[in-house]
Amino acid sequence: MSRDPRYDILFEPIRIGPVTAPNRFYQAPHCNGMGRLFPDSMIAMRGMKAEGGWGIVATEQCDFHPTGDVQPFTETRLWGDMDVPYLAGMVNAVHKHGSLAAVELVHNGQDTGNIYSREVPIGPVHRPVTWLNHPVQARAMDLSDIRAYRRWHRNAALRARKAGFDIVVVYAGHDGTMPSHFLSRRHNQRSDEYGGSLENRLRLYRELLQDTLEAVGDTMGVVARFAVDEMMGPNGLEWQNEGRDAIEMMAEMPDMWDVNVSDWENDSMTSRFAPEGYQEDYIAFVKQVSSKPVAAVGRYTSPDTMVSAIKRGLVDMICAARPSIADPFLPNKIRDGHADDIRECIGCNICAAWNNISAPIRCTQNPTMGEEWRKDWHPEQIAPKSTESHVLVVGAGPAGLEAAHQLGKRGYRVTLAEAGSQAGGRVSRESALPNLNAWSRVRDYRLGQIAPMANVDLYLNSELSPKDVLEFGADHVAIATGSTWRRDGIGRHVRAPIPGSEFPYALSPDDIMDGKRPEGASVVVFDDDHFYMGSMMADLLVGEGYQVTLATPGLCVSSWTEHTLEQQHIEKRLVSLGVEILPRHSVVELGGGVVEMVNLVTGESVKRPGVLVPVTMRLPNDALYDALMDGPDRLKTAGIKSVRRIGDCYGPATIAAAVYEGHRYARELDTEIDPDGVPFKTVKYDLELGG
Ligand code: ADP
Ligand code: SF4
Repeated sequence: MSRDPRYDILFEPIRIGPVTAPNRFYQAPHCNGMGRLFPDSMIAMRGMKAEGGWGIVATEQCDFHPTGDVQPFTETRLWGDMDVPYLAGMVNAVHKHGSLAAVELVHNGQDTGNIYSREVPIGPVHRPVTWLNHPVQARAMDLSDIRAYRRWHRNAALRARKAGFDIVVVYAGHDGTMPSHFLSRRHNQRSDEYGGSLENRLRLYRELLQDTLEAVGDTMGVVARFAVDEMMGPNGLEWQNEGRDAIEMMAEMPDMWDVNVSDWENDSMTSRFAPEGYQEDYIAFVKQVSSKPVAAVGRYTSPDTMVSAIKRGLVDMICAARPSIADPFLPNKIRDGHADDIRECIGCNICAAWNNISAPIRCTQNPTMGEEWRKDWHPEQIAPKSTESHVLVVGAGPAGLEAAHQLGKRGYRVTLAEAGSQAGGRVSRESALPNLNAWSRVRDYRLGQIAPMANVDLYLNSELSPKDVLEFGADHVAIATGSTWRRDGIGRHVRAPIPGSEFPYALSPDDIMDGKRPEGASVVVFDDDHFYMGSMMADLLVGEGYQVTLATPGLCVSSWTEHTLEQQHIEKRLVSLGVEILPRHSVVELGGGVVEMVNLVTGESVKRPGVLVPVTMRLPNDALYDALMDGPDRLKTAGIKSVRRIGDCYGPATIAAAVYEGHRYARELDTEIDPDGVPFKTVKYDLELGG
């Protein structure tokens, strides 16, 4: 298929100083939890982006000195020459496909505790370090420290050239880098030439840009990545004031501007809190004050929106982290006229979360993300079938849909049976919750892929019994029947059913999503899950007029969503909606329309009228599996060679995990798996000691 000529503009080359990007697709620097610790995985993942058509592929943040040691986070590093070879590996993987490789040089200054390097942290003024509240302080840099700092940055740029990079990104964003700390009035109260006026606070960043241009600017593009607004009004940088003034003062210095909002929680907002392109209002002025190309992120996944952003004069390059994670082949799909096949990011931030817990990246939409080297998984390719087997997949939630999609791609005959009148399972249910509609893309992408496959049949309204499965005549059966939320409060904190927790005094999230509603006007949501569902129940019910109390044994509401960069947004939203939040509370008993709780710190009893909505844990819907496994001979007689549980039916977890399990099932069907082996490649160690 040839591409729509409207999209031709996306494939124009863009000049960035001495180098030229082959198109307008710029994979923004993004953390991935692999970096220097899992270099093979990092290299293969970046190479895949280039293979998929991203004209520029950047590293995540690349730390350039031990005084900016971000342990326990797993980024790339250019501390010294020893770091050049693995980064050269990444550059080669990117160059192989004709793309440019960019490195983002970063020093997190006063944020880092330097717990590995044991160097004393540094910053514009004396300050306690912020990340993880380590009991350490950053010391104020004197002028000789600043000279040294500039030297380290320059040396890193020279090393980046040695590694073969085409572009250096000089970074002042996310309220988490030395130049952004110097720029901020909140962080910088110096009285020398690096403090006070905007010109002085901007001095360090300008010097870094200038140093980089002088050191490598003859052969490498120098990109300024700069946050123009901190989304905190006059307490921070605002695009109408100093954000704009700063860009004007440096307008023609870099070879390209990469502009965004700060901090990371604002820059990478989830779809629950911000729509596609929400940064446009903040960055729109940049192209008006500089003649240099401008790039900006916006979670853009539609080529029409991308073209519109270019034509409206907002950007020259489409900068994307998450859309490139969800679909590394997004540019090529547009180029080749397959835009309908784009696996669109749903804006859930599972990718960011895994980085934030120092683990290799995972993606809800793209189960191959992070598995490119480790499992040799390609996001667009899968081995053809090796037998003529017919596979029955029971349940069309994310696990069943992904399994059917990939099995279909392999050429197997697939029957997908779904009990409900709609496919999608939990994704359909959860995407109907407030502001989660983008999550339906998990279902819609897969339905769109399956639709034209003649070898895959989807049957709705088809609840299968064990007898149905035995009589069906499939060779293999995948049970993807999902899981059900408990109603009795058992979970992390409560270990025996809460007395009185029966319907209608207790309603589970499934009850609520099924449309059941508490009697009366008040509800207590008991959140011992700590991810999004507790807050969603509160959000939904308060929106319907209930008086809502959210009690949690955690220190704050939705504590795990700190990793998805949402915790502060969630708390702010619930407070603004009038939800009462009771941290460090558990539920003791229900009775007479009253929920009795206990303050876990003081032991004090706290009572609220209303019905309980416990959000604690789920149980697998594995009755069908158990019934089938009850008599192995029955399977044999029915001609069934294997029965496997996948997704939440096997182990309730994230939607990302269900998609991954479905994908894995399809990849592994008809292959020999060593049950005692490690099911992926691991890093080889090159040790000086130990032999
Ligand atoms: P997962 O996240 O593992 O994909 P979900 O809960 O999202 O799980 O989806 C499970 C799907 O399985 C639901 O749509 C449910 O209606 C369907 N289902 C459950 N039991 C049966 C059954 N016996 N026959 C057909 N479909 C079933
Ligand atoms: Fe998008 Fe979620 Fe994938 Fe991240 S994990 S790229 S937010 S779909």
